Amino acid sequence: MRPHRFHPSTPLAAALLICGAVALAGCAEADPPKKPAASDTAKKPSKKDEKPAADNAADDSATDDAGAANAPVSYDLDSPDSVTVLVNKQRPLNPITFEPGDLVLPSLPNPNGQPVRQVMLADLERLAADAVAAGLPQPILSSGYRSYQLQESLFANYSANYGVAAADQFSARPGHSEHQTGLAVDLDDGSGCNLQACFGNTALGQWLRDNAHRYGFVLRYTEAGTPITGYTAEPWHFRYVGVEVAEAVRASGAETLEQFFGVA
Ligand SMILES: [Zn+2]
Repeated sequence: MRPHRFHPSTPLAAALLICGAVALAGCAEADPPKKPAASDTAKKPSKKDEKPAADNAADDSATDDAGAANAPVSYDLDSPDSVTVLVNKQRPLNPITFEPGDLVLPSLPNPNGQPVRQVMLADLERLAADAVAAGLPQPILSSGYRSYQLQESLFANYSANYGVAAADQFSARPGHSEHQTGLAVDLDDGSGCNLQACFGNTALGQWLRDNAHRYGFVLRYTEAGTPITGYTAEPWHFRYVGVEVAEAVRASGAETLEQFFGVA
């Protein structure tokens, strides 16, 4: 079936209620703007020409380069619509209120009605279908795209309830959430571990950890990566970077995207 275009009139209040009801770990992963990351202004990407071939689905023509056949792969970590945009506590999206222009609703069960970027649609749906074919529970899309405004409300809510320092360990500040890119998904199996550490022990959680890279996804926040990411482990949060890059990350043994991209 064809994906529906996403209508930005998502019931923000309803989403907030649902997210707020989840345990502490819920709705984490987007981050705080501690310092305006000097690195962002330092290096300007040369537009879309830097994108690796695997990312081309992201947008139109990126093939007009002058034949850098043997040049080392360079990734566009800065453009907000780049499939390899790197967003973390030090690197907000630019512009900070960025909204993707190609949001669609995938066919997965989607209790919060959150869309994802078109570029990941086929791979996400293939992942879900293969999981089911392997005898695993139907993957549920617990979170997809979250707007700047929604993240702002979430972080304010968490800060009020748990204090800013605690909130910073599991929730991103507005403009610093991978969910705002439309390239991050939180997956669940419906067994009661939604957005909780125990999801990592479920059969689906383990299958995703071992196979997500084959569909272009990277397990973004691991326990070993916490010193670099600043976030506690989130076995449910996967970041789409395209199959080629995800395979390369896996093969490199890097624990985080920061290490893989050489900015850790
Ligand atoms: Zn997440």
